[in-house]
Amino acid sequence: MVVEIAPRTFADGPRTFADGPRGVRRAPDFADNAVLVARDLLSPTVARLVVRPDAGVAPFVAGQYLALGVRVDDRIVQRPYSTASDPEHADAHEFLVRHVPDGALTPRLWELPVGSRVRLGPPKGAFTLLGDDQRAHLFVATGTGLAPFLGMLRTLARRQNPPRTILVHGAARTEDLVCGDEIASLAAGGLPMTYVPTISRPDDPANRAWKGRTGRAEAVLASVLRSAELPPEGLSAYLCGNPGMVAAAEIALLAHGVAPADIHAERYWTAAATTA
Ligand SMILES: Cc1cc2nc3c(=O)[nH]c(=O)nc-3n(C[C@H](O)[C@H](O)[C@H](O)COP(=O)(O)OP(=O)(O)OC[C@H]3O[C@@H](n4cnc5c(N)ncnc54)[C@H](O)[C@@H]3O)c2cc1C
Repeated sequence: MVVEIAPRTFADGPRTFADGPRGVRRAPDFADNAVLVARDLLSPTVARLVVRPDAGVAPFVAGQYLALGVRVDDRIVQRPYSTASDPEHADAHEFLVRHVPDGALTPRLWELPVGSRVRLGPPKGAFTLLGDDQRAHLFVATGTGLAPFLGMLRTLARRQNPPRTILVHGAARTEDLVCGDEIASLAAGGLPMTYVPTISRPDDPANRAWKGRTGRAEAVLASVLRSAELPPEGLSAYLCGNPGMVAAAEIALLAHGVAPADIHAERYWTAAATTA
C-alpha cells in the first residue's frame, strides 16, 4: 500500500414504522428487531455502532444502507446508514455515525445504552460495486462517507486479482480520519491500495501535528487524477458523503474525461444543508 501519511490514531422527519414481521401491520407501535451491541467512540464526533438483527443478517451487498431507528414515545425516529460490514462475514451491521448536535436521531444514538432494542430496516440501495470490474477503483469519501467503502474494500480484498484501488478520505480534523488501521490491514492483506487522507482545516489547532495533505477531498482528487496515471477510460469512481464534495468531485471527474456512467455517488444529506 502507498500511504501518504498514516492517520493519527485517536488518543491524542421522523416517520412511523408500521410493518411487522411477514408484512403484518403493527401500528401504532413498531417491531424492535435488533440490538445495539456496541458503540465505540472513534473520535469525539464519530462512533462505530454495531447492531445485531434478531433474525440474523439478511443478505446484502457492500455499499448498501439500512434504516436504523429508535423509539421515541409512540413513533420511531429513523435515518439511513451505510453498512461498513463485509457481506461474507457479517453477523451484525457495523455503522460509522457522525454526531450531528441538533439532529433528531444521532444525539439519541449517542445516549442509547448498549443492549437497547432498536429497529433495523432491510438493506437497500444501488451504491454497490460492479460485478467483475477490473478497472482502477477510485473511492472518495468525506467523514463517515468512508463506511460503504470499508465494506467494498473488504469485498475487493477477497478477489483473486483485486483491482488497483485509490482511497481519498477527507475530514475537517485528523481525529476524524477514522479506521486507518483497518485500511492498512486490508492493504497488508494484498489489496493494491493508495490511501490519500486529507485535512480540510489545516489551521485548526486540533490539526497542529498533521504533516500530510491539506485541502478538501475534491481538491485533492483533482491533483490525484493529474498525478496518479489514471486514464479516464480505465476508472470506476465512487463518491460518498458531503453533497458539496460529491458535486465538486463529479465536475473534476467529468473534466478528467470519466464517463458519467462510471461515476457512482451517495449523498448523505441535501446540498442546501450546511457542510462540514
Ligand atoms: C443513503 C444514506 C446513507 C447514509 N449513511 C450514513 C452513514 O453511514 N453515517 C452517517 O453518519 N450518516 C449517514 N447518512 C446521514 C444520516 O442518514 C443522517 O442524515 C445523519 O445521521 C443525521 O441524522 P440526525 O437525525 O441526527 O440529523 P437530522 O435531524 O436528520 O439533520 C439535521 C441537519 O444536519 C444535516 N446533516 C445530516 N448529516 C450530516 C452530517 N454528516 N454532517 C453535517 N450535517 C449533516 C441535515 O441535512 C440537517 O440539516 C446517510 C444518509 C443517506 C441518505
